[in-house]
Amino acid sequence: MTVVVTGSSGFIGSHLCASARALGKPTVELDRVPSTHGATIQTDLADPSDEAHDALRTADAVWHLAARPGIRDRRPDIARLRHRDNVVAASNVLAAVPPDTPLVVTSSSSVYGSSRHGRIDRPCRESDPLRPTGGYARSKVTMERLCALRAANGRVAVARPFTVAGEGQRSDMAIATWIESVRAGRAVTILGSPERTRDVTDVRDVVRALIVVAERNISGAVNLGSGRANTLADIVCAVSQALALPALIDVVPANTEEVSATRADTTRAELLGIAFVTDLRALVKRQVAATAPAPSSRLQEVR
Ligand code: NAD
Repeated sequence: MTVVVTGSSGFIGSHLCASARALGKPTVELDRVPSTHGATIQTDLADPSDEAHDALRTADAVWHLAARPGIRDRRPDIARLRHRDNVVAASNVLAAVPPDTPLVVTSSSSVYGSSRHGRIDRPCRESDPLRPTGGYARSKVTMERLCALRAANGRVAVARPFTVAGEGQRSDMAIATWIESVRAGRAVTILGSPERTRDVTDVRDVVRALIVVAERNISGAVNLGSGRANTLADIVCAVSQALALPALIDVVPANTEEVSATRADTTRAELLGIAFVTDLRALVKRQVAATAPAPSSRLQEVR
């Protein structure tokens, strides 16, 4: 059984490939950039090579993770780049994968907007109306519409991960930047308020869930989130504790795409037998350990 992972050189994709290989599934990796172990078919999915197209056409299951994530990217042509990597690339994958092949496409919790409405914080359900507040979230909503068109004739699962953390987290994500700041003795920048909340999800749980979703060949949206709300202050404390260093915080105004709260309703995932057990402190500790400076530089610091 050959499985294809797009976005295989990225944060979640590299964990997924490692897990699939550990389960004995021959894995074909598609990414624009090579992976650290060099087994990637390098292709731009906005204009896929024949080799990539054949891999998608003949796979026994496909996880489409390739995308341009990041809600804060402000480069001038970001709308075009997001359309290319989040919409056009997905459209090509949807067209190449036969309708009966299990296909999991990665969307995002950002399609919901905030889980807090006034004083009420209600976990977001898959059936909720989508309320994207920024360009990244809107590109994922457009991608989900393409998935809905395919679902009329075939099967496609739409995974909606909530803030994923763990070893190798993208360097633009909050926990990764906060680890760097605390380690360097700089203040941690908090957007909006330390009381804002995020559903933080362990990358190991996300990968397990992605595998179950493909194995069960389900269709429709599934939240990949822990269902727990952590305040930004809680998360900074976890970083500070993991590094055994004090953390100063600098609260700055947030843009509209920074929603005040995210939290997953986990009912559908639970019905599929998927359990999310994120332990925030242990998770942040693992992420810190994975980014520890190399022993040689520690020696230099001591000298
Ligand atoms: P990542 O940026 O680490 O990985 C994405 C990979 O896709 C990269 O290796 C990149 O080279 C590749 N890629 C992008 N455009 C491509 C193209 N046109 N052709 C070929 N390869 C291309 O991102 P990630 O954090 O691992 O996220 C994986 C998926 O999960 C994305 O779809 C993202 O939107 C979604 N997601 C992530 C999170 C999170 O917390 N990390 C949360 C919600 C949703």
